Amino acid sequence: MALIVHKYGGTSMGSTERIANVAKRVAKWHRAGHQMVVVPSAMSGETNRLLGLAKELAPAKTTAAYDRELDMIASTGEQVSVGLLSIALQAEGLEAVSFSGWQVPIKTNSAHTKARIESIDDARVRAELANGKVVIITGFQGVDANNNITTLGRGGSDTSAVAVAAAMKADECLIYTDVDGVYTTDPRVVEDARRLTRISFEEMLEMASLGSKVLQIRSVEFAGKYRVPMRVLSSFTPWDIDINEEAKSGTLITFEDEDNMEQAVVSGIAFNRDEAKVSLLGVPDTPGIAFRILGSVADANIDVDMIIQNLSKDGLTDFSFTVHRNDFAKTVDLLKEKVAGELGAKEVTGDAKICKVSVVGIGMRSHAGVASKMFRCLSEEGINIQMISTSEIKISVVIDEKYMELAVRALHRAFDLDQEIAADKV
Ligand code: ASP
Ligand code: MG
Repeated sequence: MALIVHKYGGTSMGSTERIANVAKRVAKWHRAGHQMVVVPSAMSGETNRLLGLAKELAPAKTTAAYDRELDMIASTGEQVSVGLLSIALQAEGLEAVSFSGWQVPIKTNSAHTKARIESIDDARVRAELANGKVVIITGFQGVDANNNITTLGRGGSDTSAVAVAAAMKADECLIYTDVDGVYTTDPRVVEDARRLTRISFEEMLEMASLGSKVLQIRSVEFAGKYRVPMRVLSSFTPWDIDINEEAKSGTLITFEDEDNMEQAVVSGIAFNRDEAKVSLLGVPDTPGIAFRILGSVADANIDVDMIIQNLSKDGLTDFSFTVHRNDFAKTVDLLKEKVAGELGAKEVTGDAKICKVSVVGIGMRSHAGVASKMFRCLSEEGINIQMISTSEIKISVVIDEKYMELAVRALHRAFDLDQEIAADKV
């Protein structure tokens, strides 16, 4: 008998018919002898609808008072889901009980709309499991030290599920979703993208932060910190498929020291259009200039991703960096105010029509030449690289947005991601 956490996304919970299917699947696992905790999202579209209602009354303000009420509103989506799923399980003949975040409780900090989980008390859940019940816990929500309801940020149910699995030392956390696993890249862009049977947690973390939308990034951080065994799999297989087959399907997130398999050098290609580039031209190349530019950006709570400073000529240099596209106008305006005076620079320009394409692979640690292969591939396609940044297991480039799909396809081919790893390497 194992303790298993299942997480179901909004699409899987999208109608009463689908919820009935989820119940049948959970019942199958329960009848196989497992203790089951289930963490569902709100029904698809529901969180958007709820937040939309608030915005009809008053456009989004970033005051704490407004955000508190957004959490009050948005958290109800998950509350409906757990109640419905519990009823569906009872209709299957199982004993089931649902809890919202505060009833568990899942304690978080007070950062409304993006709260972080601080602790989970599992006593009540354990007691119900010991009574033979299936326990259903709301995703996405928690409670702060002052008993205010909080939410964990969009996609936060993944994090709820992994956190519950970590707190209860579950044997596995299965994330059921509308795709059947983690792919080498987005199959909508590259037709022969391949499902990975396994991916290391570090690669998954990079993929999530670089734009792969399969898992909320915080859930992956949590899984890494507490070494939660985790699998991403489809909720659209027939509910009555063989449980052993189901248990091996999808993509397993592995931890390096327990994974002896030969890794492909590159495991995936991530991309996103969420960033924009800001450049300052003719900046005096003096000590402290990077701090003066980026310090004022940081003071405005704007996150900077890639940074590049050119070689200086006649004491002047150009300085570029990327920010989230939503912060682009604000960043340019802010620097325009300072460009001539405080910064002593010539001009601020920007380009929102860029994208970031990254190759990710843990094998890069032990294989040289990945960067040059990537750059050769892009040059053969005639794609100009505007910025580069690297970490131990990824290389990212900024290119013109219009070449994004071309770049992703070419790189996918260049790194043989459409091929299964050759048997002699396994
Ligand atoms: N319902 C929330 C959202 O739509 C949380 C989740 O689905 O993970 O963002
Ligand atoms: Mg999700």
